[in-house]
Amino acid sequence: MNIILFGAPGAGKGTQAKRLVDDRGMVQLSTGDMLRAAIGAGTELGLRAREIMDRGDLVSDDIILGMIAERMQNPDCAKGVILDGFPRTVAQADGLGAMFAEAGLTLDHVIEIKVDEDALFARIETRATETGGSRADDNAETLRKRLAVYHENTAPLLPYYTEKGLMRTVDGMASIDEVAQAIDAILG
Ligand code: AMP
Repeated sequence: MNIILFGAPGAGKGTQAKRLVDDRGMVQLSTGDMLRAAIGAGTELGLRAREIMDRGDLVSDDIILGMIAERMQNPDCAKGVILDGFPRTVAQADGLGAMFAEAGLTLDHVIEIKVDEDALFARIETRATETGGSRADDNAETLRKRLAVYHENTAPLLPYYTEKGLMRTVDGMASIDEVAQAIDAILG
């Protein structure tokens, strides 16, 4: 089974993806984590991505699609993938569709974790404290920018996947366990 976890920054996509990895043995593909790994490793991609990420903008579709295409070559993806933080633009969604069609893969569900945006500011502050401020983009100013980018570039994927009959929504304001149960109910 292959799914997309969809939602605004701080909605809880990563938390739920990690639980699905533990419970179901699926593979989490987080483009944010891949980019942070590239920054950590000091690669050319990392150097280019860092500035873009720190200001809350999106890394180019070509780079992101290239990263996902390369990662999807790994045979572990046959266990089923959880796409976390990808796709974030219609161009990325089109690219993903083409990639899956070519590989004979099916996208089973797109699950939106829907949250009240005012609550995101408190969540991002909590994450910044928990991670010791290791993410330069976890602050109110950058979050405001990331939310604006989300509305402009990523929210159009809601109607995109609704038209394909793939979109499901869970209440992301519920507890982590309740969100997990709601996701399990969709996945079966
Ligand atoms: P995330 O960890 O998913 O919140 O991503 C952190 C940052 O990495 C984002 O604010 C973007 O700058 C960049 N990023 C992650 N995934 C993508 C993507 N699919 N497309 C473009 N930029 C991305």
